[in-house]
Amino acid sequence: LVTHGSVAGLLNAAALAYGDRVAISDELGTITYAELDAHANAIANGWIARGLRAGDGVAILCRNHRHFVEAFFAGGKVGAKVILLNTDFAAPQLREVAEREGTDLLVHDDEYAELLAGVDVRLGRWRAWVEEGTDAGDAAGTLASLVARSSRKAPPRPSAELKVTILTSGTTGTPKGANRPTPKSLGPIGGLLGKVPFHSGQTMVVAAPVFHSLGFATMMLGIALGDTVVLRRRFSPATCLADVAEHRADNLVVVPVMLARMLDQDDESGSRTDLSSLSVVLCGGSQLGAPLAERALRRIGPVVYNLYGSTEVAVATVASPEDLALDPGTVGRVLRGSMVKLVDDQGREVPRGETGRIFVGNSIQFEGYTGGGTKELVDGLMSSGDVGHFDQHGLLHVDGRDDDMIVSGGENVFPKEVEELFERHPAVVECAVIGVPDEQFGQRLKAFVVLHEGASLDEEEARDYVRQNLARYKVPREVVVLDELPRNPTGKVLKRELR
Ligand code: ATP
Repeated sequence: LVTHGSVAGLLNAAALAYGDRVAISDELGTITYAELDAHANAIANGWIARGLRAGDGVAILCRNHRHFVEAFFAGGKVGAKVILLNTDFAAPQLREVAEREGTDLLVHDDEYAELLAGVDVRLGRWRAWVEEGTDAGDAAGTLASLVARSSRKAPPRPSAELKVTILTSGTTGTPKGANRPTPKSLGPIGGLLGKVPFHSGQTMVVAAPVFHSLGFATMMLGIALGDTVVLRRRFSPATCLADVAEHRADNLVVVPVMLARMLDQDDESGSRTDLSSLSVVLCGGSQLGAPLAERALRRIGPVVYNLYGSTEVAVATVASPEDLALDPGTVGRVLRGSMVKLVDDQGREVPRGETGRIFVGNSIQFEGYTGGGTKELVDGLMSSGDVGHFDQHGLLHVDGRDDDMIVSGGENVFPKEVEELFERHPAVVECAVIGVPDEQFGQRLKAFVVLHEGASLDEEEARDYVRQNLARYKVPREVVVLDELPRNPTGKVLKRELR
C-alpha cells in the first residue's frame, strides 16, 4: 500500500512503486501506472497553461473509465477542488449542483454534450471533452489532445490542498455536496484493510459508479494497492460476469442491485459463470438484505462483505462472510478507526437490542456541505439518518432510514421487514414499501412489487401472505405491481418517487 499526504502525491508514489503494472483496464484497453501518472501530469500542465489555478473547481461528469481517473488526478495535481458529478443528473439538477459547487472547468463524456447544451448557464470558464475528435469550441482541449501534445515538462508539484466533493445520492432530495479534505490518516480505511482481505497487485472489478463514494473509495484503494482496476462505462450483468471470469478477478465492488442482477442473469442463462477467482465481493451503498446475502453466499461462497457507510462518513461497519453466516441481515461490526453509537431521541445511548438512531464518527468524515450545514452531532459523532440495533452477537443491523419509518395505528413499522418478506416470495423479484396517509391508522402500508416474468400475484394473495407471516398492522393496504422500481445509479430505490 502506498500512502501520501496528498492525492496527487499518491499517484506519483504509485507510479514509482508499480510503474509497469496495469493500473486500469477498460473498453479502450490497458494503461500502466507510469502512463496514468504521465497522462495526469500532461493534463494538469495543459490546464495550468490555460489558466486553471489551485482552488479552482474542476467538475467531472464521466462514467467509469480511465479518463475519469486521469481527470481526477490532474485536478489533484493542480490543487483544484474536484467535484464528482452524478451521471444520472437531469439538466436542472446539473445546473443547480454545478453552480452551487463552483465549477471553473467541466470535464465530461461526449454523451453529455447534448444534455449540457440544454443547461442554460455557463458551466464554468472552460469545458473539456474527454474524447479526441470532438469540436471542443471554447474548451480547454480534449484530455487526449493534451496528453498527445505534452512535452517533457516537469510534472506539476503535487498540491496538498486538493479538496474532493462527493455528492450524496439524493435519496431524500437534491444531492448535497459533501466536502472532504485529504485525510490526515488512514483512519477506518486501515480498519477496512484489517477486515477485508484486499492485497497488493490484485485485480479489482469496480462496477459501482466511481463518482459515488463506494466506487470512488475502492478505486482509490485499488490504486494505492497497485491493483489492476477494471472499469466499464455502463454496468451490464453479463459484461460484469464476463469481466470477473476473463480477468480471474480477485475483488468485485458492487451495489446490491448489481449483485442481484448478476445472479439473476447467471441463473436465467444457465451459464454458471466461473466466479471462483473472487476472494472479496464488496457490497455496499444500500440495504443488501438477508435473502440476497444468503443467495450470494450460496452461489459465490464465503467471500461476500457488506459495507455500511455514507458519503459523509465513508465507512462505518463491515459484515464479513462469517458475520453474514451468523446473521445474513447484518452490516457487521464497527471498523477499527470508526465509532458507532445508537441513541434515543434525547441523545441517550440505548441498551443493546434496542433500536436507536445511528451516529457515526471517524477521522475521515466530511467537513460540511457546500453552502453550509452539517449533520446533527452527538458527542462528536454524526447522524447517519438511519435507525438500527445491535443484536446479541454485537452485530449492527440497519433497520431503515429515519424518515422511512411508518407509524401505523401507533406501531412502528420498518419497511425493510415487509420488503424482505416479499423478496422471499417465489413470484417476487423485488419490493419497496412506503407509508400512505390513512384516516383511521394515521398511516398504512403500500407495497410495490416487481414480479418474475410470467409470475402472478394478486392483491388478496399478497396480503394473505403477509398476514400469515407478520403482525396485522404490517399488512399493506395496497399492493401494486410495477415493471421496475425507480432507482438512482447507486441502486437505491427512490421512495420519494413512489410517494
Ligand atoms: P441523500 O443524503 O442525498 O438523501 P443518501 O443518504 O442516500 O442521499 P449516500 O451517502 O449515498 O446518500 O448513502 C448513505 C446511506 O445509504 C446510509 O445512510 C444508509 O441509509 C444507506 N446504506 C449505505 N450502505 C448500506 C448498507 N450496507 N446497508 C444498509 N443501508 C446502507
